[in-house]
Amino acid sequence: MKVPFIDLTRTEPIFKERWLDKITQLSANASFVGGKEIEILEDKLSKFVEIEYAISCANGTDALQLALRALEIKSGDVVLVPNLTFWATFEAVVNVGAVPKCVDSDAFGQLDLSSLKSAIDYFNPQCVIIAHLFGYSSNNLFQIRQICFDKNIPLLEDGAQCFGAKFKGEPLLKGAFISTTSFYPAKVLGAAGDAGAVFTNDRDLSEKVRTLSNHGRSSHYGYSNVGWNSRMDSIQAAYLNIAIDFLPHRIESRIDIINKYYLELPKLGINVIKPSVDFFENGYLNVCLFDNITEKRYVEDKLRKSTIGFGNVYPEILTKQKGAELYNNYKIVAKNSEKFSTSVLNLPVFPYLNEIEFQYIIETLKQS
Ligand SMILES: *Cc1c(COP(=O)(O)O)cnc(C)c1O
Repeated sequence: MKVPFIDLTRTEPIFKERWLDKITQLSANASFVGGKEIEILEDKLSKFVEIEYAISCANGTDALQLALRALEIKSGDVVLVPNLTFWATFEAVVNVGAVPKCVDSDAFGQLDLSSLKSAIDYFNPQCVIIAHLFGYSSNNLFQIRQICFDKNIPLLEDGAQCFGAKFKGEPLLKGAFISTTSFYPAKVLGAAGDAGAVFTNDRDLSEKVRTLSNHGRSSHYGYSNVGWNSRMDSIQAAYLNIAIDFLPHRIESRIDIINKYYLELPKLGINVIKPSVDFFENGYLNVCLFDNITEKRYVEDKLRKSTIGFGNVYPEILTKQKGAELYNNYKIVAKNSEKFSTSVLNLPVFPYLNEIEFQYIIETLKQS
């Protein structure tokens, strides 16, 4: 038997039918950029996250760049980013000409509150980015928002991994000043290619984002700004319009698997990370931590031999990347994020992973 880490082909039969019908229709009308599908999607997204403005764009990395540009983050500005996140969070800062400085995570891989406080005092940054990782976030999310608000530093929330998650009963991103997400196929709400979005309740910011994502356009041949082409195409929007209706069901299926891991892994002595009760996670990732590296290697070996896919999200902190050398030339404290990156192991989670597959994973882990 073989269990992949993620299987994107496992969707509902009626989902596939609707998608094929939609492709036929879009092809017949040759509607590929802009139009009705984009409008419908932005409306659905805005309702889903309970945020007034949802602006679709080409991908999650562009979404971060659009948000940074709309916040008028410019050359030489300092932006704090987590040291443990996907590289795009760091990259977006560099691509708008600003300087990223990395902040340590807590023991669970989320942005650490006290490290953030020290970094704000030390760097006096123009912006802070938090990434809500693994389908939930930091327990101190409200405090982090409050600190940035009190100090008048815009907080940009990278929600690429938390779409559909809730915090204290509300959509996680609802309380954000400005946030982004990614619809990369492997995310919880995935497109049929690349796509992303920016969310905000601030009308001015939303208009800036929209203009920047469409060449800085103010009219068809009028340009009030220099932006770029970061439009989401209609095919992606159409796919997402169908997929979002299946999302609650897909999240339910993910949570079912995540919960079975919470039940079974501790019995095997495996330390599986569970977010606090304040979160309703979206089931994006299973996160296990191994204090003992030899034991982790041994478990990975067993999984490989049994053809079970696994992940290490993330195996290296950003400041250790070669591409970060130019930007982080100061003494950083990354104790927690480093420890996390060497200990982390993720077991398969995707919608409709079945009981037989789950039992096979558990039986494999049981073998000595
Ligand atoms: C996936 C991801 C991104 C980038 O999204 P793309 O759509 O691939 O550009 C950014 N940040 C985080 C935390 C991500 O997981």
